[in-house]
Amino acid sequence: MSQVLSIFGELTFNRAVMREKLSNKAYEKLIATIQSGSPLDQSIAEDVAHAMKEWAISKGATHFTHWFQPQRGGTAEKHDAFITYSDNGDLLERFSGQQLIQSEPDASSFPSGGMRSTFEARGYTAWDPTSPAFLIETGKTRTLVIPSVFLSWTGDVLDLKTPFLRSMRSLNDVCIRLQRALGNRFAKKVIVNCGPEQEYFVVSRKFYESRLDLKTCGRTIFGAPPAKGQQMEDHYFGAINSKMIRFMEDLDRELYRRGIPAKTRHNEVSPNQFEIAPLYEEANLAIDHNLQTMSVMKMVAERHDLVILLHEKPFAGVNGSGKHVNWSIGDNTGANYLEPSASPLKNINFLLTLGAVLLGVDKFGGLLRACVADAGNDHRLGANEAPPAIMSVYLGEYLTRLINEIENMGKPTEQAMASINMGVRNLPRISKDYADRNRTSPIAFTGNKFEFRAVGSSQNPSEAVTLLNQLCTYGYYIIEKRLATFKGQDIRESALLVLKDVFKETRRIRFEGNGYSSDWHQEGVKLGLPNARNTPEALPAYEEDDAIELMEKTHVLTKREVKAKIDIKFEYYIKTKEIEYKTAVNMARTQILPALTRQISLSASAAASLQTVGITSKLVDDVKAFEKLYVKIKECSDTLEKMLKKAENKSQMHAKAQFLADEGETALEKLRSAVDSAEEIVAHDLWPMAKYQDLLNTL
Ligand code: ADP
Ligand code: MG
Repeated sequence: MSQVLSIFGELTFNRAVMREKLSNKAYEKLIATIQSGSPLDQSIAEDVAHAMKEWAISKGATHFTHWFQPQRGGTAEKHDAFITYSDNGDLLERFSGQQLIQSEPDASSFPSGGMRSTFEARGYTAWDPTSPAFLIETGKTRTLVIPSVFLSWTGDVLDLKTPFLRSMRSLNDVCIRLQRALGNRFAKKVIVNCGPEQEYFVVSRKFYESRLDLKTCGRTIFGAPPAKGQQMEDHYFGAINSKMIRFMEDLDRELYRRGIPAKTRHNEVSPNQFEIAPLYEEANLAIDHNLQTMSVMKMVAERHDLVILLHEKPFAGVNGSGKHVNWSIGDNTGANYLEPSASPLKNINFLLTLGAVLLGVDKFGGLLRACVADAGNDHRLGANEAPPAIMSVYLGEYLTRLINEIENMGKPTEQAMASINMGVRNLPRISKDYADRNRTSPIAFTGNKFEFRAVGSSQNPSEAVTLLNQLCTYGYYIIEKRLATFKGQDIRESALLVLKDVFKETRRIRFEGNGYSSDWHQEGVKLGLPNARNTPEALPAYEEDDAIELMEKTHVLTKREVKAKIDIKFEYYIKTKEIEYKTAVNMARTQILPALTRQISLSASAAASLQTVGITSKLVDDVKAFEKLYVKIKECSDTLEKMLKKAENKSQMHAKAQFLADEGETALEKLRSAVDSAEEIVAHDLWPMAKYQDLLNTL
């Protein structure tokens, strides 16, 4: 067997292990559970838990943990040993069905947006059987990990997996109904596939250690531009250097062992920026795998004396990092509804699905912006960076022409329908040449899927996928309703008439031009498209009546849960900003100003020495310049600190966040500009931290 196949999934409780460790009956029931996506049957929970434990222990594990996705991002785990007392007091290792299905981590320190006071601060986690259990390895320690949902005892959502699973259910229901209406008898279950492209930076540990900002905030707060940034455009797809290729190989191997199908690896636009993308998988698994990938990357990097930066904008002046989320929808037969086909009816289905997504994006562009809004991503979206904050859709010239044809179509004659079908059939051939490669669009149709590029590199892709599901659901609801008015008529004709309107109505969000241009920004405003510059401006989109209605109608979140979500997001934003500003003040006072003092002292005493031998040197001018910067930095850090104090007194969360975004950012920019000027003139050996030159060009 090849090296890859022989290790693939060896750390997962996969089908081969299940088959080996479970009775036939339990195995078949478990597989059926996985396929249907229903909760684990109590009657086999005991067997499955036992088999998992035996397998984990045979691989050297002593503990297990439920692993879940808190709303604040990342993943969380709480380890428990298998040991317990038997009835007669002996120690034994056990893992019960009850423990598998349910566990009770203390939820009090997880953000719940005020839904729960501390005395009732308990939540429970339960295995999501559609995601396989696996072993994590930390050094020599192995732990059995159980991918789980996390709910409060009252049933309120505390995580990001639960809303995702709920979104799948509503999408499934409406989509299957629609498939029946279109005469599709084979579709039983909707499958959403997802392939997240993960961008990241890598820096040498030695340099990283010298930067308080990187260690505390994940991004540099200061740093003068290097002589060589990304202007040579020589990094993108360039040859991967040997240190990096060793890291990537090691990473791929670790991912394969975890059953994660890592597929592409390459250099990105900025120096020391890279991308890894897996083969696409069912969204639930793809999300879990992306979260694992992010933590495995960090672990593997350590072995190579490297540090992974997942922050959306670790360095000013060079590219930021995103996570392009590729999304498509199909069913259990393997059909992809976004894939053009030879069959006219399937192509109608394709156009309807396209229409559904357009309806969703048109109506909920603000929500799409909000679901990827956080302090880190603000440096990409809405700044002059990829992609813009206005949520438009790029379809490519060919598909746009086809849609225009439908819009302008009269009565759908056989001939018109045949021509449209031919148009869709030609799409793959054409799109290879034309449709792709508008990199400035936040949402692009790329051949047989949508690529949502606004997701931040550090974010859990779950929120984006959940919302794409909901937008498609919303669009399908509308289409279903309109189709119903054509009862008894030819389905293809009716569908085309529905589509004609849908394409007309959603014209404003289809944009084929340059998304970075200021013209588009002005045009977007005219068209009434939301264009939030930052998180505090973006988040209120969740509170709008339509948004709440969407959440409730798709059974993803209740109004209460939406409110909690907004609170958590605001709180997280405020904390992140405060930490950044405090770190900036701290670095300025304890590192930058002392460096300048040393420089002043050296230069001043040199000038004085020269004076004693009768030379009046230009050094005096330098000393004056240093001193001027010293004063500037001192003043700017005082201003930033005052701003922080003012912010503290603001009790209303939104106002506080907005203040930190506006006043805070302005104050920080002033400080940064002074510090960066100092970096450019202070002696290299006196500068107290690694510079961009080192961070970006050395590994
Ligand atoms: P790009 O050219 O956009 O950089 P990549 O190959 O880096 O493309 O990534 C594309 C991602 O999209 C991969 O993860 C791939 O598996 C995924 N993908 C391909 N087809 C589909 C599909 N039908 N549905 C969802 N994801 C898909
Ligand atoms: Mg890619």
